[in-house]
Amino acid sequence: MTLLHYPQDISRAVLSVTKDKIVILLLMNIIMLVAPGESKGTHAAVLCEHFGIPTISTGNMIREALKNGTEMGLKAKSFMDEGKLVPDEVVIGIVKERLSQDDCSKGFILDGFPRTIPQAEALDKMGVEIQYVINIDVADERIIKRMSGRRVCENCGKPYHLTNLPPKVEGVCDDCNGILVQRKDDHPDTVLARLETYHKETEPLVSYYEKQGKLVTVKGQDDVEATTKAILEGIEA
Ligand code: AMP
Repeated sequence: MTLLHYPQDISRAVLSVTKDKIVILLLMNIIMLVAPGESKGTHAAVLCEHFGIPTISTGNMIREALKNGTEMGLKAKSFMDEGKLVPDEVVIGIVKERLSQDDCSKGFILDGFPRTIPQAEALDKMGVEIQYVINIDVADERIIKRMSGRRVCENCGKPYHLTNLPPKVEGVCDDCNGILVQRKDDHPDTVLARLETYHKETEPLVSYYEKQGKLVTVKGQDDVEATTKAILEGIEA
C-alpha cells in the first residue's frame, strides 16, 4: 500500500485500488494541460471514474451557457468561433463558482483550465492546492490531423473521433443516439488559430507548473487508451 500526500484530513482521502496496489490519495486536484485537439475530455473521463471525482470542463460549461442562451454564453461565442480564448475574468468567475460546490471537496479534474498565466495565478490566489498537472505532449501536425476527425454528440456532448474513437454506428452517439457533429471550433481555419493561441497563451503554463514541481508530461499517442494508461502511471495511481 502506498500513501501519497500527508493525510491532514482523512475524510478527504481518495482510494485507488488496482490489481497489485492500493493507493490512498488526498485531495486529488488535477489539471489537464493539453494542446487543442488532444482527447483531454476522454482522459479526464477515465480519471474521473478512477478516482470518483468530478471533471470540470470550462469548454463544456461555456458551450452549455451558449446552448441556454445566457449572457455569458453569447459573449463567449465570438471568441470560441474564432479560436480565441474567452476573457480571463469570465472563465475565472465560472470556475470559482463551480469549485465552491460540494462535489469538489474530495478533488476534481480541471479540463481546459487554466489556459493562461493570469488564470493559473487566480487559481493560486483562490488557495486551491493542485497535486498534478498533466501535460500531454503532441506535435502540431498531429493536432491538425486529429482535430479534423473529431466529432461530438450534439445532444449529450460525448466526444468521438472518426479513426481513433469511432462510434459503434456511423454518425450516431453510442450512449443517447444523438447525432454526431463537427464543432465549429474544430473547422480547419479555426484549428490553426487555436494552435497559435495555445502556443502564445497556454504553453507558458508548462514551465509555470514545472517550477512548482507538479508537472507530469506524457507523450500523446494515437491509441487513446495507451495515453490514459501513461497518465495513470505518471501520477502513480
Ligand atoms: P475546449 O472544449 O476546452 O477545447 O474549449 C473550447 C473553447 O472554449 C476554447 O477554444 C475557448 O474559446 C473556450 N475556453 C475553454 N476553456 C477556456 C479557458 N480556460 N479560458 C479561456 N477560454 C476557454
